[in-house]
Amino acid sequence: MRAPSPTPTKPRVAIVGAGFAGLEAARGLAGAAVEVTLIDRHNYHLFQPLLYQVATAGLTPEDIAHPVRAILRRQRNLAFRQAEVTGFDLAAKRVITSTGEVPYDYLLLAAGSDTNYFGLTSVAENGFGLKTIDEAVAVRNHVLGMFEQASQEDDPVKRRTMLTFIVVGGGPTGVELAGALSELVYTVLVKDYPRLDFSEARIVLLQATDSLLPNLPQDLRDVTAETLRKKKVEVEFGQTVTGYDGQTITLKNGESLSARSLIWAAGVRASRLVDGLGVSQGSLGRAVVLPTLQLAGHPEVFVAGDAAHIDENGRPLPMTAVVALQSGSKAAGNIQRLLCGQQAETFLFHDLGSLATIGRNAAVGQIGRVKIKGLLAWLLWTVVHIVRLVGFRNRLFVFWSWFWDYILYDRSIRLITRE
Ligand SMILES: Cc1cc2nc3c(=O)[nH]c(=O)nc-3n(C[C@H](O)[C@H](O)[C@H](O)COP(=O)(O)OP(=O)(O)OC[C@H]3O[C@@H](n4cnc5c(N)ncnc54)[C@H](O)[C@@H]3O)c2cc1C
Repeated sequence: MRAPSPTPTKPRVAIVGAGFAGLEAARGLAGAAVEVTLIDRHNYHLFQPLLYQVATAGLTPEDIAHPVRAILRRQRNLAFRQAEVTGFDLAAKRVITSTGEVPYDYLLLAAGSDTNYFGLTSVAENGFGLKTIDEAVAVRNHVLGMFEQASQEDDPVKRRTMLTFIVVGGGPTGVELAGALSELVYTVLVKDYPRLDFSEARIVLLQATDSLLPNLPQDLRDVTAETLRKKKVEVEFGQTVTGYDGQTITLKNGESLSARSLIWAAGVRASRLVDGLGVSQGSLGRAVVLPTLQLAGHPEVFVAGDAAHIDENGRPLPMTAVVALQSGSKAAGNIQRLLCGQQAETFLFHDLGSLATIGRNAAVGQIGRVKIKGLLAWLLWTVVHIVRLVGFRNRLFVFWSWFWDYILYDRSIRLITRE
């Protein structure tokens, strides 16, 4: 018989989500006189910004994910619980999970976001998302599988449809994915399939608005489009997708495109867990929080990262890793302030700038007022991403993979592991 759990003597903090915000908050509570329970449906922390490299055979899933227990094994006041969170009882202060309820005195909701298909069910059913390891591996398998099928197909119309890859969304994910796909196809697969006519291959980036990377100044957006076009990516503006049946993409202007591959990088919305909180929701379903990241009427509940609508001068902060890291850290600090009988502090976001890579030696970015592009931006992007990865092994392996690919124009992970 199991001994009953001892009655906790320290305040209990439940953190939902071991992503950027949740992990940073958990670390921020190391050494605090609290009992932390960190809950996630996965047993690993995932570095989502590099998912597109898994999708394009540049990195393995293990390179960009790290077990939560390994990351936090020295933190004595923390227990990790792998479980699906299904809801909350805010009145009774309980998190409801697939493996039972977790009582708390303080709660941090850091459950991130889900892919936003904007109600396009056919796209969700027949296209690919890029939010999880499984989705990234599915894209890799599918892209490589299309080349295998095309190499055995005699009908040129069918072959072209197999070799047409549509990326939807001109934000950082869409741009990075389109650039990486181009490098996979035109520098690596071109060597693997000497009998295929690569003039039949197409990579098309569809953007609903009239420019890419809307967070950057116009000249850098222009450089981005120009660089992608040099890499044989067809960049098409003002194109809104309305449906996809797995063969044909329909567009709002009545046109259509034949392609066996559509990868959706057109947006995210806050985790569905926010919908169940019964609190005020802002843009993209995010929970509206006070400047201290607390929920109005629930000072013991904090929301951070992609799940939070954090207002800055009348506009919500973007859903980025940096916002998640900083807000997770502030939430942990504020919980400690409340424990000491102090007031929670206002969260002030320190904008560190933004960077997006378009491929080998090519990136764009803005840090403060300084705009950077080309090799310098690419080197900075490379360093920032290696430094931000969790775990020494992952940093080493990612550095080695990039070095190898850079020198040899190779992608060693060209495995089709599932049909
Ligand atoms: C493909 C891609 C590329 C990106 N590129 C960049 C970039 O270049 N730069 C940048 O700054 N940002 C980028 N982002 C955005 C960035 O990854 C997010 O803003 C960041 O991950 C948000 O952190 P978070 O902690 O709020 O959520 P997440 O990191 O998403 O973590 C949420 C955690 O909650 C867990 N969870 C969710 N629901 C449940 C549940 N019901 N039960 C249990 N656990 C649950 C998840 O498993 C996950 O571990 C990118 C995102 C994607 C998808």
